[in-house]
Amino acid sequence: MTAPVDPRATWGLPAPGQMARTVELDPLVTRVLAPNPSPMSLDGTNTYVVGAPGSGRAVVVDPGPDDAAHLAAVEAALAARGAQCVAVLVTHHHEDHAEAALPWGAHFGAEVAAGRAVVAGPRGRVLEPGERLNLAGTTIGVVPTPGHTKDHLAFRLESGAVLVGDHVLGRGTSVVTYPEGDVLAYLESLRRVHDLGPAALYCGHGPELTEDPGAVLDFYLAHRAYREHQLLEVLGQGPATVDELVATVYAAYPQQVWPAAAQSTRATLDKLRAEGRVEGTEPVRLA
Ligand SMILES: [Zn+2]
Repeated sequence: MTAPVDPRATWGLPAPGQMARTVELDPLVTRVLAPNPSPMSLDGTNTYVVGAPGSGRAVVVDPGPDDAAHLAAVEAALAARGAQCVAVLVTHHHEDHAEAALPWGAHFGAEVAAGRAVVAGPRGRVLEPGERLNLAGTTIGVVPTPGHTKDHLAFRLESGAVLVGDHVLGRGTSVVTYPEGDVLAYLESLRRVHDLGPAALYCGHGPELTEDPGAVLDFYLAHRAYREHQLLEVLGQGPATVDELVATVYAAYPQQVWPAAAQSTRATLDKLRAEGRVEGTEPVRLA
């Protein structure tokens, strides 16, 4: 098995650090990049302002960090659309997406909605998978996408674009967190989004993917299968600890991302253990 080729390599996406701060992506959506870049959050968190033009209303999806400059940029995007924020939606509970949800919800006087009560807050709303939200003059479909986290949701817009949070990133691949994440659920969620035939993927981090979203989802599925194959291949040479597996499989990656790689590795080993293909923990061995 050879490493799958990332179709985005030839798409001419903006280089890291080169994304515009605020961009109107399509008539329904403006993206505002938060000032929180890091090896894990890439260029920073993408906050999306969504609403039908002329409706005078908009929804803010993944407000991101509670940062005054970011709030000012989002307010400028709302003003440019002539819209008032009527709801704050959150893809999942991670702080780089959810931190500003409650403070900004209060600031805008807008309802907060998320997959988990602790994110939505006491006056917020817990979203149901499959629900259709009629907000800001448009319809937003709630697509369950567990895997990265248990509570992860994607939001499908009328244009066919899908706001995918950390389910799919604009560059590289996402992490199946451990112990919360779940590889099998993650793979199912990738197929679920693929089946929607998305017109575009608007990611929680990194550039928007518009050229061939299905090819990116195929690549993500192939990438997970390849990681599994690599782990089984290393274990074929003898038992190994998780640290040893990560150091071998992720040898070409900066050590900054190894803790995240270890999470995906542990989550993948859980799947392989459940399938009876490996056993033990430290070290892990082929079953
Ligand atoms: Zn996340």
